[in-house]
Amino acid sequence: MNVVQHIRKAAVIGSGVMGSGIAAHLANIGIPSILLDIVPEHAQNRNELSESALQKLFKQKPAPLSSPKNAALIAAGNLEDDLDKLAEADWIIEVVVERLDVKKAVFEKVDQHRKKGSIVSSNTSGISVEAMKEGRSEDFKKHFLGTHFFNPPRYLKLLEIIPTSETASEVLEYMKMFGEDVLGKGVVLAKDTPNFIANRIGTYGLLKTMHVMTEMNLSPGEVDSMTGPLIGRPKSATFRTLDVVGLDTFIHVAKNVYDQVDGEEKAVFDIPDVLLNMRDKGWIGAKAGQGFFKKDGKTILELDPNSMEYIERKKMKAASIEMAKQQKGAAKWKTLAYANDQAGQFIWKMLAPTLLYSAELTGEIADDIVSIDRAMKWGFGWNEGPFEIWDKIGVADSIKKMELEGRSVPDWVKEMDGSFYKDGHYYDPLTQSYKPIEKNAKVIDLKQLKEDGKIIKQNSGANLIDLGDGVALLEFTSPNNAIGMDIVQMINTAVDEVEKNYKGLVIGNQGKNFCVGANLAMILMAAQDDGIWEIDMVVKGFQQAMMKIKYSAKPVVAAPFAMTLGGGTEVCLPAAHIQASMESYMGLVEVGVGLIPGGGGNKELYIRHLEQLPAGVTVDLQAVANKVFETIAMAKVSTSAAEARDHNFLYKADGISVNQDHLLHDAKQAVLHLHENGYTAPIRKKVPVTGETGYATLLLGAQSMHASGFISDYDLTIAKKLAWVIAGGNVPFGTEVDEQYLLDLEREAFLQLVAQPNTQQRMQHMLVKGKPLRN
Ligand code: NAD
Repeated sequence: MNVVQHIRKAAVIGSGVMGSGIAAHLANIGIPSILLDIVPEHAQNRNELSESALQKLFKQKPAPLSSPKNAALIAAGNLEDDLDKLAEADWIIEVVVERLDVKKAVFEKVDQHRKKGSIVSSNTSGISVEAMKEGRSEDFKKHFLGTHFFNPPRYLKLLEIIPTSETASEVLEYMKMFGEDVLGKGVVLAKDTPNFIANRIGTYGLLKTMHVMTEMNLSPGEVDSMTGPLIGRPKSATFRTLDVVGLDTFIHVAKNVYDQVDGEEKAVFDIPDVLLNMRDKGWIGAKAGQGFFKKDGKTILELDPNSMEYIERKKMKAASIEMAKQQKGAAKWKTLAYANDQAGQFIWKMLAPTLLYSAELTGEIADDIVSIDRAMKWGFGWNEGPFEIWDKIGVADSIKKMELEGRSVPDWVKEMDGSFYKDGHYYDPLTQSYKPIEKNAKVIDLKQLKEDGKIIKQNSGANLIDLGDGVALLEFTSPNNAIGMDIVQMINTAVDEVEKNYKGLVIGNQGKNFCVGANLAMILMAAQDDGIWEIDMVVKGFQQAMMKIKYSAKPVVAAPFAMTLGGGTEVCLPAAHIQASMESYMGLVEVGVGLIPGGGGNKELYIRHLEQLPAGVTVDLQAVANKVFETIAMAKVSTSAAEARDHNFLYKADGISVNQDHLLHDAKQAVLHLHENGYTAPIRKKVPVTGETGYATLLLGAQSMHASGFISDYDLTIAKKLAWVIAGGNVPFGTEVDEQYLLDLEREAFLQLVAQPNTQQRMQHMLVKGKPLRN
């Protein structure tokens, strides 16, 4: 059978919200596509829809493109003139309006024009995939399946894959691999049932939440204050999520289930009057400017569902919430689920039915509970899936309470041995046994390694962990992974240990962010305490540790992801190789807190710019200094790894992992690769600087910004120090200086700034308010 083994080119049909987002995501990973849409009646430009969709990609937030340059990989076309181009595509994905007749008509055309062996899929949110293939050719049917992305496709991890009864197993296997390894998604296999997995349970949970809100006479604000981070869900909680999704879309999705189920379930999916009422008024959420919430200047108002008026937003206050905030894991869940106050009652009433519903649907919508838990985590951003939560609140206790209330608990839940998960196994109702959770060789689980006793060294801010195969990993564990002396010490220990006993070192972790910078609180405290001498020691130690990373005899590979700011970026720059997540937000942002980088970041970024220049060209040192100055002075932060490359935080040869779950594995492979190729420490080189004339030029730029009012007096003071450091101080243009000289300049400037009241105010503001102060 002719199965496409590689998707090199794609066609995306439908250039709406999802189609354009999918084309953008394909471009981000280097796959060119043609984006097709209908020709609007009387259109002068026959590609009007797809071309305007492409234009919108540049304006959307969060950005669908990881670099504006990627748009060049998407060609616009239409469904009348460009059908022959479908024959060039290895994968054709349909993303048109959610109507079976429209989708079937599209597939009829696709069948006529596609090449044999190309994969065809639908991005439907819940229409039967089986029904879509009716009337199609044999080859089409073998290569056809559902691929359900979540919005926005670049950022949301879940990809539900839905095979039909005729999808060839090779095609299914290939798409699972492609989804995970190439698209970087979390793939879950779903059955062809209404709304598949995540949207089925997600909409049910949301509608139940609404019913309980009405029953308990609570407000959307009160509900959101309980259904967000408190229970491990995104900040947008319930109703703000609904506003972002749009009530029209939500109603459509819920109605799809309503039409296909019966009895009690149907009653839940019956759209509440409030929602219909809101839709009729056009209050459908963010895109209409109002929904459950509405902004009034800076204040956020909430809708009172009884009076249909916007009032001041309320928050739920309860003893159980205060208590839970102090707790973690199972204890926290137990407090929240079983408390007798209003919050406890609400959480139980919305949670219990969702848990039961998930259990009832196991087998029907997915083969196993693991898929359901993953779908909810990857598609809805829950920290834990329903069965993981259920284990935490305690299965036996919860069943008692559920049955006392007259809820019916599926037999298999009562029959299993007290928990859904046990030592790396999950319960399978079909065989009534615990089955091992399949291990994915590309997913390194640090928590598991620690449980397995793989810690080599440990202190209050970091661990050194044995990853196996002769590779060690340095993990930051301080709050926000902020760098303090403990981490600095562990860097030294790690490099010493690795030089003796390992092939190389990965610096990485699995927290929320790689690292948000140095421990500001510690620096501020020392600064206010006249502890400049102490700060000098810390900065010196940090600089030395960075040099140790750079000149380690064994390769060090940094693995940044998400926020990698200030000191976080400084830790990466001296590494032998950086393996970055596609979602890496890197930047030297120290000026925001009145400082300049103090761990060698200025020097390393400057060197990276020099090293990136093509061999043989005359180096324009001033241009290099200008660019580095601008990047640091404006505290530029990349919005992706691709952009980090544009800023030279990453070399072209540094790696990018599309799937963040594979990041540590990829970094480990990079260490092994360097080791096998006979890695040796880099040779110490002198660095040519622009010196006095360079300083004057940089200063001129800063002064004109100041004169035009773009930067404050104090910004100018910082800019002067930064210019001095980047220019390499008071030496003739082109002087070659050694790295230690540059580090000393940097440290001196850092210490002068940290002693300034304006800098201390900026640090204080950042610590208290979480955002920069421009003084
Ligand atoms: P959309 O309304 O933004 O885009 C639909 C596209 O279909 C438009 O470009 C439109 O021009 C095109 N279209 C309309 N009539 C057509 C026809 N007769 N033939 C061909 N194309 C036609 O919708 P969307 O939100 O991008 O949704 C597209 C698909 O993705 C739907 O199946 C939807 O269920 C699914 N989906 C949507 C989301 C979401 O959050 N929006 C998430 C996952 C899946």
